Parts: sequence; C-alpha cells; structure tokens
Amino acid sequence: IGKVIQDIERCGTKFVRLQFVDIHGTPKNMAVPLAKPGDIEDILKDGLLFDGSSIEGFVDINSSDLIIKPDPDTFSTLPWRPEEKGVCRFICDIYWPDGTPFEGDPRNVLKKALAKVESKGYEYNVGPEPEFFIIGEDEDGNIIPHDDGVYFDVEPVDQGTDVRRELVLGLESLHFDVEVSHHEVGPGQHEIDFKFDDAMKTADAVITFKQAIKAIVDNLGYMVTFMPKPFFGVNGSGMHVHQSLFKNGKNIFYDPDGQDELSQEARYFIGGLLNHSKALSAIVAPTVNSYKRLVPGYEAPCYIAYGLKNRSTLVRIPASRGNGTRVEFRCPDPSCNPYLAFAAMLEAGMDGINNKMDPGAATEIDVFKLDAAGLESNGIETLPSSLWEAYHALENDDVVKSSLGDHVYNQFMDIKRKEWDDYRIQVFPYELNRYLMI
Ligand code: GLU
Ligand code: MG
Ligand code: MG
Repeated sequence: IGKVIQDIERCGTKFVRLQFVDIHGTPKNMAVPLAKPGDIEDILKDGLLFDGSSIEGFVDINSSDLIIKPDPDTFSTLPWRPEEKGVCRFICDIYWPDGTPFEGDPRNVLKKALAKVESKGYEYNVGPEPEFFIIGEDEDGNIIPHDDGVYFDVEPVDQGTDVRRELVLGLESLHFDVEVSHHEVGPGQHEIDFKFDDAMKTADAVITFKQAIKAIVDNLGYMVTFMPKPFFGVNGSGMHVHQSLFKNGKNIFYDPDGQDELSQEARYFIGGLLNHSKALSAIVAPTVNSYKRLVPGYEAPCYIAYGLKNRSTLVRIPASRGNGTRVEFRCPDPSCNPYLAFAAMLEAGMDGINNKMDPGAATEIDVFKLDAAGLESNGIETLPSSLWEAYHALENDDVVKSSLGDHVYNQFMDIKRKEWDDYRIQVFPYELNRYLMI
C-alpha cells in the first residue's frame, strides 16, 4: 500500500477512480478527489461504502450497502485524461459490510474458480483476441464502417492506421504488452492483440482495453463498437480466447510424445469445452446479436468440433508447442463479461479433465462445407442458434451453471429472459420486406 501511495504522489494524481463491473461486464466507477495522496490510505485499507442497488445484477434496494475496496496491484493512470491534475484508477473487489466477499461481484466469481485450480497447483492462462469496428454516421444517420479496408490493408485504404497508432500507444502506457495490431476482414474492423497472462489479470485487462479503446477513439472524434455483428453480410467481431494450464512454470498442455504433441490433460480440457459449449455460449456470447455472428461463412464457429490448423471449428489448436501450447475457443465475443466467461470456460475444461472427456481425433475437413447429413455422419453437433437456445442449454448444465454461483446465475437468467422477451416482440424491416404482401 505504501508503494501505491508513492506512485499516486509521483504521478501528480488529483482523482482516484474506484472501478468495478456489473453483471454484463460494463465498467462502473466513482472518483475520489485527493487533497493529498495520503487521503487514499484509509480507502485502500478499509474500502468505501456505496449503494449497490442500481448496479445491474447486484443487490435489492432493501439491502443495498456494499463495500468497494481497491486491489492495489491494479493501479494505473488513465492516459486519455488530462496530464495535469491527472486521474488514476484501481479495479476493486466488492464486499458485504461485514467483510465477506459479495457473491454478485463478477471478479469474485473468477477468483473462486481460480482458487479451486490453484489449490491443485495450476495456473490458468488466457490470451484474448478482441475485434472491433470503428464507425461513423452517413447523412441519413445510418451507422456505417469508417473505411473500406479489408484484412491487413495499408493506408490509404486502411483509414485506421493513425487511430490504431494512438490506441497502441495508449495501451502501452497502460502497461499492455501489445503483440500486433492490424486491419481485420470487415470494412472498418480492427484487431489489437496483447500478451497472455493469468486469467484475473487478463479479465481486468479486457475491461481496461475496451474502456481505453472507446475513450481514445472518442477523443479522436470517431465511434467504436464491440457489438458482435454490427453489419449484415460482413464478418462479425469475435474475442477468441487462447487458454493453457501451467504447473510450476511449465505448460502442462504440451507433451512431445502425446497425440499431436498434446498432453492427455489438454485433450480432456478440449473435451470439456466441447461438451459444455452449448451452455458456455450463453455466457461467452451473451447477447441476442451474438448469434447473428455465429453463422456459417464468416470465420466464426457454429459447429461443435475441434481442429488443429482448422479455422472452421469451434476449438482450434494453433501450431505452436512447448510453453506456447494452447487451446483456442472461438465462439466468445467482446460483448461477454470476461470474468464470468473465463470462470465458466475454466470450469468446463476442468470438468473435462476430472471426468476424462476425450475429444477423439481432430476434425481436418472444412465443417462449413458439410450439409445436415454430413454433420450427422461425422457426429458433429451445432452451437445454439439463438440466445434463447443457449439460455436453455445453460439451464440444463450443472457444471457451467455452478461456475457462476447461485446469485449471479439467478440474476443472469432473469436479465437474459427479459432481454429475449424484449427482442422477440419487435417487428423488424426484414419482416415487412418478407411478409408484407402475404
Ligand atoms: N471475425 C472472426 C470472428 O468473428 C474471426 C476472424 C479471425 O480469425 O481473426 O470470429
Ligand atoms: Mg481476428
Ligand atoms: Mg483467433
């Protein structure tokens, strides 16, 4: 704590933001103005009381007091705020006033899942690949992509190069280890990848990443969206998640003598992801719009299979081995709450290990080319085609359900049922075009 206070002093901070996320993974915060840096000491030690009743997925109005307590390891200045009298922030944990961790805090959900595997000596590492669109408005107020670039384009077709430059510089000053940035397949679509880390650090990083991208792009006068499928007929935005388990600093997914140089644990982990993928979808692809991305033909998965170099499958094993051995899960999208998503994926994978779910041989064929009969003869099932299907899959999957804990599960189901009901009563232009003349 002493060191953090020195950091605050050194940065000339005027405001300290205390930040957390609601059940959707939407960042929420309040700012404490500092007269002198020591002012924050009590908050770092004891936390601060706040009213949690207006935060989605948290508490009822009749038991609304919660405590917010900064995690000192998450200290960071915010590069998009003024330099003088600057702003720093902490990501916080939420407690009941009596000091017990609050079950509705998504960070606490992930903490619990990680504690379970850490007691067995495992470290769960994840590397996400978030994609997003830079967008603008045409004269009629329609949302349009901000350029016509495609995959890996350069300027001037790629109009995003200066924006990505600012984004990468901003992310670096937030201590991101950025590996690569590039224009993606869709017009206006981009990707910035950063180095994998343990799941808690990475979940915090996903929140910071989205927040920083939105703030910096907004300062540059554009808009950005992490919506999974903003434009019909164009690739959507995914957030593939690369995963591995380490023990004593060694990646246990690697076995030079195993089939495909994968360990039996890696194979079971894949089996667990595949087995629970329908229920996982509800958490990693949690919006109505998510299922418009998970359709054939746009590099997003829809069939439950795993492959090695195969980008048509739900799970892919990239070619790198040794400590880089990893399992890529491809149905998550950036609308998910990363704390809940990582907790659920970990529990699904561990269930595969605990119950020895061997996934069989890798699928080498392009599964998008299979028709219904081909899928059936290859024993390949389909991911849910709507949020409502995923909702029911989650209802029937005790492993994924319990990864959320009762509080978050009940709140999540309540919110998603309302979201689906709200959607299903709408009448869209598509329907008028198709059915008006019936
Ligand atoms: N945009 C694709 C998706 O929705 C992914 C493209 C890629 O492989 O990077 O998953
Ligand atoms: Mg990509
Ligand atoms: Mg990928």
